Amino acid sequence: MPDLSVSELLDLDRRHVWHPYGPMPGRVEPLVVESASGVRLRLADGSGELVDGMSSWWSAIHGYNHPVLNEAASEQLGRMSHVMFGGLTHEPAVRLAKRLVDMSPEGLEHVFLADSGSVSVEVAVKMCLQYWRSLGRPGKQRLLTWRGGYHGDTWQPMSVCDPEGGMHELWQGVLPRQVFVDAPPTEYEESYAEQLRSAIERHAGELAAVIVEAVVQGAGGMRFHSPAYLRVLREACDAHDVLLVFDEIATGFGRTGALFAAEHAAVTPDVMCVGKALTGGYLTMAATLCTARVADGISRGEVPVLAHGPTFMGNPLAAAVACASIELLLGQDWAAEVKRIEAGLREGLAPALDVPGVRDVRVLGAIGVVQLDHAVDMKAATAAAVREGVWLRPFRDLVYTMPPYVTGDEDVSRIARAVCAAAREG
Ligand SMILES: *Cc1c(COP(=O)(O)O)cnc(C)c1O
Repeated sequence: MPDLSVSELLDLDRRHVWHPYGPMPGRVEPLVVESASGVRLRLADGSGELVDGMSSWWSAIHGYNHPVLNEAASEQLGRMSHVMFGGLTHEPAVRLAKRLVDMSPEGLEHVFLADSGSVSVEVAVKMCLQYWRSLGRPGKQRLLTWRGGYHGDTWQPMSVCDPEGGMHELWQGVLPRQVFVDAPPTEYEESYAEQLRSAIERHAGELAAVIVEAVVQGAGGMRFHSPAYLRVLREACDAHDVLLVFDEIATGFGRTGALFAAEHAAVTPDVMCVGKALTGGYLTMAATLCTARVADGISRGEVPVLAHGPTFMGNPLAAAVACASIELLLGQDWAAEVKRIEAGLREGLAPALDVPGVRDVRVLGAIGVVQLDHAVDMKAATAAAVREGVWLRPFRDLVYTMPPYVTGDEDVSRIARAVCAAAREG
């Protein structure tokens, strides 16, 4: 097939290719990316480059086309891209699992390598339900979460996403019915902590687990909350025989200023999901970690195995790049880089407070958020950012950024200017 022109490519894309949360045929014209390097995306239409303010949805923490990650990928490619994980094992997966156990909160010891974040959440839920089943308490099969969350697009994850998001209305009566409490306030409030405790106590007999994003709620609304609530959850779960799951798929690997957001509260969950930045944005891979208690419980059951095994489980190529990405992260003062970006975003986003229609501006770690008092005009906001030379993907009432950690100061300022422009014009 000869090379496609940009317009041919867009035409075929519109007619045949689904995009995230998109209609068919497509109604908006996506930008065609030809290549990417460092923090820049090069567009195929010849219009130049955009600084990436999105890290490809939180994942490309080291930027694109990184020599170290490229080297890890091509070295592994020369050995094998993939072998099945049933009955076989290999160094990249074993090294990655060991790395994750070593770097994650104390007590998480066992690793299930999944092929996407949503699947890792499915596995987390399966672990929790099976744990109670194995212990002879099969009635404990619901989940409790707070509103405003996002845990992925497959079935169980969808059931614990914010019910206001639209998916719940569409799937009412089809999705498992979970227990919801109010979204967590930003600051610690004893009355809210009490609400958490009493909901967990009241539903304990039917709850397998509490599942939440730690400290930052991402795609459910880009909200931050006091880490103290994580301690409240830990204590209430322990008191009432409920497991605690942290979804760190967005927050893991330094994004909030701690390696994992659970560290802000010095809490170890029973189960933890990681994904997104795991492979530095190169390949799809996620992981579900659990404690010895959870694994032992499952192993004591009538069916003593965790019955889950995706075809591409433990993919060597993804695992090798993940190991390299983690080494790259830990081999530098990543916390200083995240702090530097945090300072740059605080300064650069402050002017947004004076923009009419802006309700809130908040920054935590390498995450900057401008919340409007109205739904963003996606087309106008995106175009405003592109005019500033920046790629952003606003949603609902939010214009936000989580740049790669390698973003230089000037590019951080440029991204902040683009967020302000998008907020003004969207
Ligand atoms: C992105 C995300 C998921 C889903 O991960 P996918 O790889 O897109 O399936 C789950 N939970 C959180 C917190 C996320 O940010």
